Amino acid sequence: MRTWIKDPLAIFADGAERGVVAEGTRIAERVARGATPERIDATFDASRHVVLPGLVNTHHHFYQTLTRAHPSAINKPLFAWLTALYPIWARLKPHQLRLATRLALTELMLSGCTTAADHHYLYPAGLENAVDIEVEEARALGMRMTVSRGSMNLSEKDGGLPPDSVVQDEETILADSERVLKLFHDPKPGAQIRVALAPCSPFSISKELMSASARLAERYECQLHTHLCETEDEERFCLKTYGLRPVDLLEETGWMSSRAWLAHGIHFNAHEIVRLGKAGVGVSHCAASNMVLASGICPTCELEAAGSAVGLGVDGSASNDSSNMMEALRHALMVGRLRYGADRVTHRDVLRWGTQGSARCLGRSDIGRIEAGYEADLALFKLDEPRFSGAHDPLAALVLCGAHRADRVKVAGEWRVVDGQPVGLDLEGLIAEHKRAARDFA
Ligand SMILES: [Zn+2]
Repeated sequence: MRTWIKDPLAIFADGAERGVVAEGTRIAERVARGATPERIDATFDASRHVVLPGLVNTHHHFYQTLTRAHPSAINKPLFAWLTALYPIWARLKPHQLRLATRLALTELMLSGCTTAADHHYLYPAGLENAVDIEVEEARALGMRMTVSRGSMNLSEKDGGLPPDSVVQDEETILADSERVLKLFHDPKPGAQIRVALAPCSPFSISKELMSASARLAERYECQLHTHLCETEDEERFCLKTYGLRPVDLLEETGWMSSRAWLAHGIHFNAHEIVRLGKAGVGVSHCAASNMVLASGICPTCELEAAGSAVGLGVDGSASNDSSNMMEALRHALMVGRLRYGADRVTHRDVLRWGTQGSARCLGRSDIGRIEAGYEADLALFKLDEPRFSGAHDPLAALVLCGAHRADRVKVAGEWRVVDGQPVGLDLEGLIAEHKRAARDFA
């Protein structure tokens, strides 16, 4: 079945002015100006749509959708925010994580996202099967996911930040990491589910766990993920605890490779940026979260110039507090302008970061572009709302006027959002159930 997504208003792909042909789960060809594809079984009229590659979110904590705008945590910087929330999060139950995952994935998909990475590091007693739950939910929705088997093994009793009840010991963490890698990790092109290993952050894990995770990732050909250089507090913690700056900790534990992508990546010096770029370490720029917690601004342009993949992330919903990828693009443009000037970070830059750059962070070369052979993951937006009226450049308008809801989303060649609604899912029912679950965290 070859479907021509025909004559879009604009498309984020060169030489595809007349659209794109999808065949099965993949993109078969781009249709240039004045051209007509050869053999077509069906046509989709995209003359009112702007077409993007499906957006790729590189950092999230789905469970945090249950504690958005929580009164205990608002208006605090990272460490105070975390210590206020850890005891609340410690109550998380399996059915709540299930609803949080369903809600976060749906919210992302409605914003044009087709692949999402989640970093789940919270393991109170009873929540041992967190990864299994997330995989079941992503499969049911038809979204692609890199589920990061997160971990924490350094709690208050050992001088770490999290309470003792949410961490696990190294042996348990590594055994479960292997279990979920064997069960769910698919390294092949076109994969729906991939697993990454993700020790949480320097102030909640041991150096040994960082090294052991890197060795395991090598064996199973999976990515590595962690929070790094988010705040100056973290840098002080690393110097005091390990006698190392955070990037030196990465180096010592075998993380300086393109297997690794880092959430935030703000407080690097110039030499560290060169080292990270050379090694091909990726960075997930989480602009909204960094602004909310006043953590700082990621040096995106320097990192990209040095050779790092720069992707975008919404981050967890207790520090954004929404999971909207189009908003993430707009935030990245705005904070980028503030740092680099009005002629530097353009709408094309943030579109590239949120698609190709994010895909590279996740170690994928099969998604993030509208190109023959890539997966048929597409996000289509209409410009019919008042906020777009009078806009001239349709592609720039998506970012500058603040598009936040896709009209149609295709994942692996299947429509998953139609007329702004998730296919086969009762959205109102889901919101009602999720709200009820969130009440337990009040
Ligand atoms: Zn995070």
